[in-house]
Amino acid sequence: MNRMNKLILGAARRHLLGAESVYIACHILPDGDAIGSMLGLGRALRQLGKSCTMACADAVSGKYDFLPGLNDIVSHPPEAEEVLVTVDCSDVERLGALYTTSAFGSRPVINIDHHVTNTGFGTVNLVEFLPSTAEIVYSLIKKLGTPVDEPIAAALLTGLVTDTRCFRTGNVTAKQLRTSIALMAAGASLAQINELVYNREPLSTVCLWGQALASVEINGRIIWTEINRDMMRRCRASPKEGNGLVSFLASTMGVDVAIVFREQDDGRIEVSMRAGPGWDVSGAALRLGGGGHPRAAGCTIAGSMHAVRKRVLTEIEAGLYQQESSRAVGAGNPDYQQA
Ligand code: 5GP
Ligand code: MN
Repeated sequence: MNRMNKLILGAARRHLLGAESVYIACHILPDGDAIGSMLGLGRALRQLGKSCTMACADAVSGKYDFLPGLNDIVSHPPEAEEVLVTVDCSDVERLGALYTTSAFGSRPVINIDHHVTNTGFGTVNLVEFLPSTAEIVYSLIKKLGTPVDEPIAAALLTGLVTDTRCFRTGNVTAKQLRTSIALMAAGASLAQINELVYNREPLSTVCLWGQALASVEINGRIIWTEINRDMMRRCRASPKEGNGLVSFLASTMGVDVAIVFREQDDGRIEVSMRAGPGWDVSGAALRLGGGGHPRAAGCTIAGSMHAVRKRVLTEIEAGLYQQESSRAVGAGNPDYQQA
């Protein structure tokens, strides 16, 4: 962690220790990093005697029911809490119905996140481009000086494991392994997390994958498929189910970008994108109103499946072309280093 981030960590600590009540919010359609970061920090603050509300606008997947505190999560905006914290949110739209200008405009907001597209909306922006938000929360808990007990360790390791797909993403370094060792030494079971998160897929997910894989399309180095509401109904699947599919498509040999278009209950299309080594889809996601990381990004767009697909594919193709062109220019430059 650099000096700047140490100062920011200090500022976050002062706000949290100075407050009696804290509200922590994570993003809509929460994943393991959002839930793990929120539960870990919430428990640490409660250990320090703070009153702590944990909130998410959407229901949490039963997959994470082994993490203590899951039943304490509420879905309402802040009430009288003195300090607000957001975890794993790159912008305030990610908070969904939890965001109100009255609450977020009048109290200190600590923005804890790891997305390159983070808009810096907090009073304190604890933003580091690490593989998971859970690691940043781990540094903060240590700075708060409260012990990392077994439930905190399990929550944070769940965040680390899920955002790195069991340490398989290209951004994993010795740092993530060191943090994981510390969390395991504090009592978290990597075997249990892997078993409970990855080996309990409901039959509806298998059904959904089957339907979506049957309609895969590929054009050059872009592969995509869609999940529509009919498929969701036929398979009795719940929102966000089958979200591992896009990573599976990205593992296809010869492919640089994989996309899954998913029709939501409100008719809008949720777009999940993954890029191969050396490629970046976060710029395209940002231009389409979303955000994310260079190799994993997304957005949600209003419109028909057909129109959204056309718009996204055009944007991705333009992005790949532009990256290729700048690489060709850079290749002639001796200072150029491939990302
Ligand atoms: P996933 O494909 O797993 O849903 O999302 C991949 C990454 O893109 C995640 O880090 C997530 O935060 C980001 N992302 C997905 N959808 C959106 C969106 O609508 N807005 C923003 N800002 N980020 C998104
Ligand atoms: Mn995350």
